[in-house]
This record gives sequence, structure tokens and C-alpha cells, in this order.
Amino acid sequence: MLVAGGGVVGSAIACALAERGVRNVCVVDLDLSGRYASSELNAGGARATWWQEVNAAGCRDTLAFFAAHAEELEFRRCGYLWLYDDAPLYAKARARHALQERLGLGVELLEPADVWPRWPLLDRHRDEIVGATFSPGDGLVNPNAVRRLYRRRAEAAGARFLNRHYVSGVETAEQAPGVRRVAALHVLELEAPPPADEGRSVERVLTQHHVPPGAVARHHVMRPDLFVNALGAWSPVLSAKLGVRDAATPVRRQISLVDVHASDLAPGVDLARLGMLVDASGLYLHPEGRFVLAGYSTPAEPPGYAFQYDGRAFFETELWPRLAWRMSSFERCEHVRGWAGLYAVTPDCSGVVGRVAGFANLLEAHSFTGRGVMQSFAVGRGVAELATTGRYESLDLAPLAGDRFHDPARFVTEDLHI
Ligand SMILES: Cc1cc2nc3c(=O)[nH]c(=O)nc-3n(C[C@H](O)[C@H](O)[C@H](O)COP(=O)(O)OP(=O)(O)OC[C@H]3O[C@@H](n4cnc5c(N)ncnc54)[C@H](O)[C@@H]3O)c2cc1C
Repeated sequence: MLVAGGGVVGSAIACALAERGVRNVCVVDLDLSGRYASSELNAGGARATWWQEVNAAGCRDTLAFFAAHAEELEFRRCGYLWLYDDAPLYAKARARHALQERLGLGVELLEPADVWPRWPLLDRHRDEIVGATFSPGDGLVNPNAVRRLYRRRAEAAGARFLNRHYVSGVETAEQAPGVRRVAALHVLELEAPPPADEGRSVERVLTQHHVPPGAVARHHVMRPDLFVNALGAWSPVLSAKLGVRDAATPVRRQISLVDVHASDLAPGVDLARLGMLVDASGLYLHPEGRFVLAGYSTPAEPPGYAFQYDGRAFFETELWPRLAWRMSSFERCEHVRGWAGLYAVTPDCSGVVGRVAGFANLLEAHSFTGRGVMQSFAVGRGVAELATTGRYESLDLAPLAGDRFHDPARFVTEDLHI
């Protein structure tokens, strides 16, 4: 069984497959250090507070897994506070509360007056806020530790992870009328050690799909009985080679670390006790060591495989105005550093999991639109169930099947993303 992509999702799948006793699980990845993998470049937010049941339930189960390994994964249920300045949107949040209650998430609906005494940090433009939600069961996790744990468990159960292995091509064959199968994968094993060029060669291969002939040590032809596309934001590249419609689009997202001096904090503010805060403007932040990690998804960001971090310009135009608008403590703060990674965005902002229609031996799990870490355990478990029994046993992930994009009535439109 071959899994392409050793990010958090591919690793979770390998772990679940191997622990169910599947033999010969093999994960191939061009760069298992994950320099350009979203799994290494994200914000570490982990919440079950979503508006679509399949997303909320999958994240709830994943958070339960994180909680069972809280120390190793540095998982803290420090809560998500979500502010609303739009009355119709807040009405929608209230309407989704019943679903969240049914799933046992314990989300609190807050009036503005409930917010200020508990979060004195939010001391500006309070009159804009029409309501808030606080979900004490949500929190923060170390995503790199999550991926490491899945991989360690997968390897302990017999799975193999092959580094510097690039899936360059695929052959398909007809299995029955109207049903194809993945007959062979062409995998280029790159020379070891990788060139000391700070990852530029990895980026070139991933974004331009050009492997210089001199860099190839071996050309493997693999003939898996089952193949899983877990290539994250690069899944469309492989889907195109398979002739499969893939609705996902890569979009750059940027994050900055911000230094706030203790002497500049408003009275009563203790940043260390803050969980994740999502402002009505779309800005999000949480404490990260001695700094604050802040992000904002620029709506006009063009799609594409881009990793350039805009540095101070991003901080000064997108982050600082929003920080200082809501919190006087951020009136004076400093940009430290930051980075950019890819969201794999789908038309309904939900992920893609399941069998690929028209193929006998092809599964896919990708494009979680900013939710891949917090949904990873449930996705790995679901893919392993589907692969071994032909159906979902623990949680029905069928709504996330990729062929839903042919029919807008089947969209799983998730509005609570950042
Ligand atoms: C700025 C930012 C903030 C985020 N914040 C959060 C958050 O707070 N919480 C959360 O849950 N999620 C968050 N996300 C989203 C999350 O990081 C992703 O959903 C998740 O990491 C996707 O994991 P993946 O395994 O699907 O993909 P990836 O981690 O991208 O892994 C894909 C792998 O495929 C490999 N690959 C690609 N093409 C090939 C090929 N042809 N051959 C071999 N290997 C190949 C790559 O090397 C890579 O290792 C954020 C993302 C970003 C960018």
C-alpha cells in the first residue's frame, strides 16, 4: 500500500493503516523534513468548533487523540475566543450552537459584556462587537510533534518512510468497463545528501516539477495494490496526471511572530494565559513562547505555489493595524520574523477524503483548507477503515468525497475558517 506525501495527513494514514495490521505500508515524500510542507508551516491551532458536522466531529476526535498524548504533543486546551462584529454572522454562530452542543463541544455563547472582564486585552472599539463564542475544549498543539508521533507509531508497526522520493508519473489501466486502476507509479529517488542550498532545489522540484537528470539516483516503478494521494497542496499536480478532477487550489498564507514588551501591556493583561483569539477582522493570534504568533489570510491573495514571506510589509499593512485597532497593548510592538506556507483551498472550504470515483485502487486525503492538523487523526483512521473494510466505521467521512464538487448541493460549505 503506497501513500504519497509524508505530511501530517499522510503520516496519520500510514499510522492508522499499519496499526490495523496492514503490511507493506510505504510512504514516499520528496522531503520528509517538510521544509515546504504545510504541516511544518502552520499555526498550531486545534479546534473542534466548526459549523459543519463532519468537520466538527473529525476535529473533536482528533483533539481527543491529542489530549491522550498531551505532554508529547504539547497540547493545551487553552480555548478559542471568536469575536463577531456582524450580526447576521453571529446569528449563524448561534444557530450552529445546537450542533456543537450535540457533539459535546461545550462552546459558550457570550454577550459583549461577558467578554471584557475575562479578556481585558480587548480594550478598543468594543462597541463594534455584537457577540462572541468561547470554546474551552479547543487549544494549541505542536504540529511537528503530531507528525513525528504518527510517523514513529507507523514505523513501530512496520510502515516504511522513503525520503527524497519524488512521484513523477503514473500509469493507469482499465480494470473493468468504466473502472480504471493505478497500475504503476514512477518515483525518482534523488541523490543523497540533498544539495546544501537551503531547500531551493526541493522548492524547484515541487513547484516546477523539474528534476535535473543529474540529481536522480534511481528510477523506481512501484505497483501498489492501493494508492493514497496525500500530497497536500500538491494533490492537483498528481490528479492532473491521473486525469482526475481536483478542485483544490494552493494559496499562500503568512504568519508573523510579534514581540510585545511587558511594560506596554494594558493593566491586568497576561498574554501567557491567552489561548487562540480570532478577531472580528479575521486576524488571529496566540502566545508562542516569549512572542505572540499572529496571522491573517489576505482575501486578495492570488492562487499559486508561493512561499515568499513579505516580512515587515506584511506585518505593517495586515497585522499591526488590526492588532492595534482592537488592543492598546499592541500599539507598540515589534515584528520579529515570520514565514509563509500553503493552504489547499477547496470551493466549499472543506477537505477531500475517500475513494476517487472511477478508480478501483485509488484513495485521496488532502486539501483541508487550514484544518489538516486538527482533523488528521480522524482522517487517518477513516482512510484506514475504508481501505481495510470498504466503509467508514468510527465516523462517516462520506460527505468529504471528492466527487461532491460535481454537484453544488453536496458542498460541505464551511464558513468558520480563518
Ligand atoms: C500559515 C498556515 C497556518 C495554518 N494553521 C493551521 C492550524 O492552526 N491548524 C491546522 O490544523 N491546520 C493549519 N494549517 C493547515 C495545515 O497545515 C494543513 O492542512 C496540513 O498541514 C496539510 O497536511 P498534508 O499532510 O495534507 O500536506 P503537507 O504537510 O503539505 O504534506 C504534503 C507532502 O507532500 C510532499 N510532496 C508533494 N508533492 C510530492 C511528490 N510529487 N512526490 C513526493 N512527495 C511530494 C511534500 O514534500 C510534503 O511533505 C495551516 C496552514 C498554513 C499554511
